[in-house]
Amino acid sequence: MLIGGQWRDGAAAATLGVEDPATGEQLCEVADATPDDALAALSAAAEAQAEWGSHPPRERGEILRRAFEQMTERADELALLMTLEMGKSLAESKAEITYAAEFLRWFSEEAVRIEGRYATAPTGQGRMLVMRQPVGPCLLITPWNFPAAMGTRKIGPAIAAGCTMVVKPAKQTPLSMLALAGILTEAGLPDGVLNVLTGSSSGDLMAPLISDERLRKLSFTGSTEVGRTLMAQASEQLLRLSMELGGNAPFVVFEDAEIDEAVEGAMIAKLRNVGEACTAANRFHVAESVADEFTEKLAARFRSLEVGRGTEDGVDIGPLIDDDQRSKVASLVEDAMAKGAEAIVGGSAIDRPGYFYEPTVLAGVPDDADLLREEIFGPVAPIATFADEDEAVAAANRTEFGLVSYLYTRDVKRALRVCERLDTGMIGLNQGMVSNAAAPFGGVKQSGFGREGGAEGINEYLETKYIAINLD
Ligand code: NAP
Repeated sequence: MLIGGQWRDGAAAATLGVEDPATGEQLCEVADATPDDALAALSAAAEAQAEWGSHPPRERGEILRRAFEQMTERADELALLMTLEMGKSLAESKAEITYAAEFLRWFSEEAVRIEGRYATAPTGQGRMLVMRQPVGPCLLITPWNFPAAMGTRKIGPAIAAGCTMVVKPAKQTPLSMLALAGILTEAGLPDGVLNVLTGSSSGDLMAPLISDERLRKLSFTGSTEVGRTLMAQASEQLLRLSMELGGNAPFVVFEDAEIDEAVEGAMIAKLRNVGEACTAANRFHVAESVADEFTEKLAARFRSLEVGRGTEDGVDIGPLIDDDQRSKVASLVEDAMAKGAEAIVGGSAIDRPGYFYEPTVLAGVPDDADLLREEIFGPVAPIATFADEDEAVAAANRTEFGLVSYLYTRDVKRALRVCERLDTGMIGLNQGMVSNAAAPFGGVKQSGFGREGGAEGINEYLETKYIAINLD
């Protein structure tokens, strides 16, 4: 763990094993934190806050810039570490390192653009000064699916804004976060600004911090279920919250779409990260007249995919994160097939060590199949059809989630009409990926609230203070 600038074991000297999901074998062990360690990490963050909050913004930005350069320079090594602990192919891990580093670059540029305002009151008598200051010590909790990028998306703006922090990565993937903390330390981040806790019992570790009045903000990326629990805990202190939660993205293909482009976009939207992404296309809604063509072309692409250990050359699809995740995918596919869906490609777990599942295309998926409502988090593409635009929009919005939607059409009027009607935080219009450090990432409905990245991202880490001035 990293606490107050010291790399240390946990107070109980216990360890947590990190597994390679491609083999099921243990890679190494990391410290298993106790609640006392968690409080020590928060103490370090609280002690560093006053100095860090008044640290020159230019220097905060330069630390981020140096870390961006180091991440970029060490991309191969960091990608290998990520593939070993998380499973996805080396090419995908490298793409994530690039994406993750972009948040450090973006927020290195934002650090010097934190502005306030000075205005004359409408009566002409008083003046209004508005200043923006760091929120204070933050708790940042991240998931295993993007072990680096979900960290930098929070750490970048927190550093830029002048907040100190305690970061807790998921227990399956602590290594990428520890490596990132090493880079930020080498880049000159002062002791105590960033503290990293690795641990097996997240609930026990996080609860005392959430109820500690020194903590000022909680930013969470993970499942809606855990998000709800954390929000209830945070209500005790009315903590500032950012919640990046689950998704159930519809991928809508209209009859006027360029089908080859839609298939290309579908490959990215569905298979990026082996389908283990909150932005993954969870269900395909395709116009009846082009459904057969789309399905055949997508199935042909799925058939040609190479499944294997992410570290091997030519591998497209690595293992899922663990046995629980694979069992969940398998049971969702079984449910859909029992209700009448047909597997055009795949449909089964792969019998070999590790947690592999076949890339799968399901056609004729009925409305009552569970996988249309639940996050699949695997390489499974269920295809349903629609008759007209109203039916497509209704199907796309039929979910309690609202993170991202994908839309393929060549008709500009229809594109804008449908974009306005989709209940979603983000839309990929004729493209299968929306993630971009310069854009506001986030959801509506039960996908959460708050935005990460873009000009909006730093606001999550700033408070607004207003000063009423009497000049008479
Ligand atoms: P998760 O089970 O909710 O875990 C996320 C993080 O919360 C992990 O660090 C986990 O630690 C921790 N955690 C779990 N229970 C906790 C508790 N009671 N108190 C405090 N912390 C707790 O989610 P996941 O399975 O890792 O990630 C997949 C989910 O994340 C999916 O639903 C996906 O859609 C969502 N996600 C959303 C976004 C977005 O931007 N909207 C991005 C990526 C992923 P341990 O693992 O150590 O228990």
